[in-house]
Amino acid sequence: MVSNHSRHDRDSVSVSGKDYFKELGVRTFINAAGTYTRLTGSLLLPEVMHAMMHASHDYVDLDELQSRVGERLANLLGCEDTVITSGAASAITFGTAGVLTGMDKNKVVQLPDLTGMKNEVILQKSHRIEFDHAIRACGVRLVEVVTRKELENAINENTAMLWFLNTQNYQGEIQDVEFVEIGKKYGIPTFNDAAADLPPVENLWKYTQMGFDMVAFSGGKGLRGPQSAGLLLGKKKYIQAARLSMPPHENTIGRGMKVNKEEIIGMMVAVEHYLQRDHQKEWQYWEQQVNLIGDAAKSVETVETDIIVPRIANHVPTLRIWWNRDKIDASADEIRNQLRTGHPSIETVGTPDMIEITTWMMSPGQERIVARRINEILKAYLR
Ligand SMILES: *Cc1c(COP(=O)(O)O)cnc(C)c1O
Repeated sequence: MVSNHSRHDRDSVSVSGKDYFKELGVRTFINAAGTYTRLTGSLLLPEVMHAMMHASHDYVDLDELQSRVGERLANLLGCEDTVITSGAASAITFGTAGVLTGMDKNKVVQLPDLTGMKNEVILQKSHRIEFDHAIRACGVRLVEVVTRKELENAINENTAMLWFLNTQNYQGEIQDVEFVEIGKKYGIPTFNDAAADLPPVENLWKYTQMGFDMVAFSGGKGLRGPQSAGLLLGKKKYIQAARLSMPPHENTIGRGMKVNKEEIIGMMVAVEHYLQRDHQKEWQYWEQQVNLIGDAAKSVETVETDIIVPRIANHVPTLRIWWNRDKIDASADEIRNQLRTGHPSIETVGTPDMIEITTWMMSPGQERIVARRINEILKAYLR
């Protein structure tokens, strides 16, 4: 099913009778870029929004709600346990906290002071990313390795966890299966950050079944749940330990990473909806959309396009557009800026020489507007 969220957009405006963004003078735009935090991630599915509204009518016990939702999603995803976090980043922090503290509440209070605890997390050099700050938030030191030999040599009595960045699987010398095997060999928990790695849907169970002790996904990317929510899944003993650092517990490093009941329910519904979606049909629709935009761009002299699919992370049809600067006198940055400042505003990404477009975060039909605008703007620069 390809759900129509433009209908939902209008509903949300008409319920309150207000257009808050307009009132505030905040620009809205067609998202031809993808799932970017600065662009507010994804649009909540109507089903998720409605579930969140329903959840807002009653009080519940926060811990009880997390437990029941955790069990339900664990059953659906074939893993031992799950918990809803405030984004994949906090899933990383909580997962790390859990392996450091276990079920010891004194250690939970002590974090990020690691006196008497393990204090190193090993990862491959090619897996370093801005988001690994979420690991360091627990006070641990990151130890970078390149080869398997280096990894095995780096393991010592202070090693708390082995951390893996899924999107870099093919860039590192040690790939997922071998990484898990090393963790098991030395009895050290492994964590896989797969935040942006839906689709494909099977990633929701692939990595826990592969043997990773913990896996993290973002709520506000392909799942189209709350942008501020995330999913931590894996071994029960680590999830239960991680939860000691989460609200409602107060003297914890995670007190500022609260997830409210609406977001918890919203994430649950987002995952359930994702499991039921017709992914093949959705994929075909995305292909049609990028083809339409590509054709409109290519119809301008010297413009060239191709369609790629990143192997992991943002694994969706991605249109790339470039041209001969002798014929079209504008950089991709200039064209991108024209798209952004035009009406309606359109956000795209890419490089200084290339426009990159995905359609999976658009509302149905917006591809026609994007196609028309790209064609118009490129043509206007034609010498
Ligand atoms: C987006 C992302 C995160 C952070 O996810 P949030 O849900 O925004 O907290 C972490 N790791 C990777 C690889 C990501 O792409």
